[in-house]
Amino acid sequence: MSETTPIKQTSFACPKCKHLLRSVDNALYCSECNRTYPITGGILDFLSGDSQASLAPVFGGTSGITTLERMAKRMDFVAPIYESRLFGSVLLKLSGIGGGCSRLTSRIARFHSKTLEGITGSVLDVACGPATYGRRIASPSRNVYGIDISMGMLRQGKVHVERDNVLGVHLARARVEELPFENAVFDGVICSGSLHLFPDTVLSLREIARTMKPGASLSVQTFIAGKTMINRFVQIHSWVHTFELVELQQYLTEAGFEEFRPELDGIVLTFSARKAMSRT
Ligand SMILES: [Zn+2]
Repeated sequence: MSETTPIKQTSFACPKCKHLLRSVDNALYCSECNRTYPITGGILDFLSGDSQASLAPVFGGTSGITTLERMAKRMDFVAPIYESRLFGSVLLKLSGIGGGCSRLTSRIARFHSKTLEGITGSVLDVACGPATYGRRIASPSRNVYGIDISMGMLRQGKVHVERDNVLGVHLARARVEELPFENAVFDGVICSGSLHLFPDTVLSLREIARTMKPGASLSVQTFIAGKTMINRFVQIHSWVHTFELVELQQYLTEAGFEEFRPELDGIVLTFSARKAMSRT
């Protein structure tokens, strides 16, 4: 493919009914279910006015107090410092991970690049944060669609993307359980540091698989169980999930993935998998 050949863009679809959307005044509109999704500060917002986003106790716990919106606000709060060395160092210390955050970021970026090697077209970045990895894997032959629940993270991502003059990165506020895309549109998917935060792992993986073409690659970084401060934190906050490898493989199979290939570095787990060819 020539470097100047434009690649086909993936259109956003209604996260509720999955019909394609059409542009209206600074928004996208679903004529099927009569919903309007605003574009705020250049970022498409599929969670604006979403009652589930503000009310549902999606991060578990018996109290029902912790909500998706609360999680999004926490992420909004840390968004400006999320990629700073100090914040990264504190998180790594708590996780018992040595080597510094730039080493870990480089390692994860290399893993995603290796998994997506040779893949052109459209790649979904689930829970993209400030496009930390999305902007590293975008290329003239590869568009990246990043979704996150935190508008603060997405705004920070937009700043990074524009600062680095990265083309082909599209950011939108949406939930992993209701992705704003049609079936089987993505050639690859990445997900970094978030799978353990999704309240229902299989439901989330099924929705991700729905948007992938049969045989498309999934590249994930998450954590497994270990004896670190993060694990002690997990015991208190039951909405954070740390995986056992066997359990994770079972979840992936249930969600329609095969060829699970894990790589472990302490409690940091990177793995690739492939959407089963038999799934559409
Ligand atoms: Zn709709």
